[in-house]
Amino acid sequence: MRSSITVNARDLGRTRMENFCPRCFWFTARFPLTGDHPFSSHMPGIVSTLDAYAKQVVNSTFAQTRKLPEWLSHHLGKIEVVEILKPKRWRVEVGEVELVGEPDALWKLSDGSLFIADYKTAQLSENQKALFPLYEAQLKAYAYLAEKNGHKVSKLALIYLQPQRYANKPDKLAEINAERFVLHFDCAVKFVEGWSLSEVEEMVVEVGSILRQQSPPDGKENCAGCESLKGWFAKLRDWI
Ligand code: SF4
Repeated sequence: MRSSITVNARDLGRTRMENFCPRCFWFTARFPLTGDHPFSSHMPGIVSTLDAYAKQVVNSTFAQTRKLPEWLSHHLGKIEVVEILKPKRWRVEVGEVELVGEPDALWKLSDGSLFIADYKTAQLSENQKALFPLYEAQLKAYAYLAEKNGHKVSKLALIYLQPQRYANKPDKLAEINAERFVLHFDCAVKFVEGWSLSEVEEMVVEVGSILRQQSPPDGKENCAGCESLKGWFAKLRDWI
């Protein structure tokens, strides 16, 4: 029988975030504000467009040269990619929870194992580093899904594409002509080490135990947000 609770690899690590709130997690998973909701906010598409563009550049370079582009490969050390595979949306039942996910990049290495990577268009700032627990869990979940689908995974990495600002070099800020300007990126790679099947299963069980609850769990201590919401709903009741 199919699980009633589905968790996306992208959300698995939310319990590992410093500011994690089980109540918030329960509400947003149970009652997601979809695109046709009056209070939903549409995500800007530019970041996913840039991630997709980076993927296209890497894949087309490999198709022409049988090598990854140099701006990326020199961050990866001695690995030999022999094939770029088309990512799949994997699904695996873990107890009563279905874990789903589709990585950005799946590269087959010369020893037959997989290198799984995710592209992130962002500066590696302190704010971005605070998201590592979330991203690491995401990659570990992909490794879990891959292994459960018969692959061996040897490498996991986040590939950061950082827009260059050249704040003190206005001449380098952009190459401009009558039709376009060029934004430069540099690349940084963060490897994720030391994952295990049992670690991912523990995270899935933890997330499942929150989402299975029939009423929202308690929120974070000393968070004024829920009290503000109660006041807001009380006013809405009077107005609607
Ligand atoms: S407002 Fe605060 S306590 Fe309430 S659900 Fe959100 S984060 Fe949790």
